[in-house]
Amino acid sequence: MSSGGGRAFLWLPLNRLKVLKMQEQTIKELRNENDSVGTRRRLEGRRAVVTGASRGIGREIALALARDGADVVINYRSSDEDADELARIVDDLGEQAWVYSADVSEMEQVKEMKRSVEKHMGNVDILVNNAGINRDTLFSKMEESAWKEVFSVNMNGVFNCTRVFLEHLEQSSYPRIINITSIVGQMGNVGQANYAASKAGIIGFTKSLAKELARKGINVNAIAPGFIETDMLSGVPDKIRERIISQIPMRRFGKPEEVARAVVFLASDDADYVTGHVLNVNGGMYL
Ligand code: NAP
Repeated sequence: MSSGGGRAFLWLPLNRLKVLKMQEQTIKELRNENDSVGTRRRLEGRRAVVTGASRGIGREIALALARDGADVVINYRSSDEDADELARIVDDLGEQAWVYSADVSEMEQVKEMKRSVEKHMGNVDILVNNAGINRDTLFSKMEESAWKEVFSVNMNGVFNCTRVFLEHLEQSSYPRIINITSIVGQMGNVGQANYAASKAGIIGFTKSLAKELARKGINVNAIAPGFIETDMLSGVPDKIRERIISQIPMRRFGKPEEVARAVVFLASDDADYVTGHVLNVNGGMYL
């Protein structure tokens, strides 16, 4: 599970000629998307840590936060190239990115990441606990390792990052903790007892922490995505995909950016009086 220690570097703008045409196109599209939702930059001057930001939902969360003016720490475990590419895009959007590889299930690596963030970026205001894994199998065939692996990342990872970055949040004027749970933690799913239990745990954690930290002005919320088109869904056979879609009132999977927009809302001042909430982003699949 361990990546064998953190690796950090500050993204420095490279020779612009090196920026691929495709990437320029992506940045153009990102800017246009920003224009279409208005030019208000709700997170100007804030710093966010997004765990599991190299791919999928975490990547879109980091981008959406940067588009709204936040500097971002891009945490991930092993996808160096994906993380670097994202940092380049964040940099081109005009925000600072700090890329850090750390296994969130390893407390020492998380502590090292915090020290590195402090040194190179300063304290953070927003923690998005997004990193998560699944090891799906029917419970009758589930090995102890599949149970422990999922819990070590999905639950212990949330504990480690929250515990370690709490010190920063306590000093912030705009502190936010946003935990990514899942519709599966709310309604259960065949073959996902380990994953569902870990995600249900995140909901209990979120609500308890919201009550504990409200007096310190720290808002703690969760987002429960439904089925979202990412690598996590890519292994699902077509037949099962069709069955799932037939159960979604909107008749489609969600997009990572649709989850990201909910994160930006919860991170912004618009959600000042929202805490302990589980925001469903699921196309109506679970109400
Ligand atoms: P994904 O595409 O598989 O990406 C997972 C991300 O987490 C990657 O950046 C990965 O880094 C990182 N990661 C995994 N283990 C890590 C660890 N131990 N330490 C640090 N980073 C780690 O997953 P996703 O679909 O975007 O899911 C993101 C979150 O949303 C998860 O918590 C997931 O449970 C939740 N969610 C997803 C769905 C869905 O349908 N996709 C639905 C509901 C909830 P590397 O690239 O380095 O491996």
